[in-house]
Amino acid sequence: MIALQILGFFGGVKNFFNSAAWDLIQNLLLFFLLIFWLALAYWVYKDARRRVEDPWMVWMSVLLGLVPIAGVFIYVLLRPPEYLDDVRERELEIKEMEARLGRRELQCPVCRAEIERDFLVCPVCTTKLKQPA
Ligand SMILES: [Zn+2]
Repeated sequence: MIALQILGFFGGVKNFFNSAAWDLIQNLLLFFLLIFWLALAYWVYKDARRRVEDPWMVWMSVLLGLVPIAGVFIYVLLRPPEYLDDVRERELEIKEMEARLGRRELQCPVCRAEIERDFLVCPVCTTKLKQPA
């Protein structure tokens, strides 16, 4: 009796897996996997564009991202750690800092007005800059 019930249960399971509902579920799963796969590749594209300057390298990243499962992980491991915007911003800051350091001798120490090397007094705030030789 129990054996018959078990057989009946497995028969039901078998019927389920042969049913149209199972086909539908399989197709939906495949569909979502496909969407997920394409979304990952798109994410790699967007991320690579923010990090990689060379368009050719961006497309190589996308190709890598299209490798199922492993591709995205490899991309995340190998991608440049910084966004291009951050790199540019830092370079600008460094340049500005260098320019400021280069200019330092030609500024009034009090009001930071531009002065000539041979000025004795700041023309803006009249601070004495050096003793007359
Ligand atoms: Zn001054």
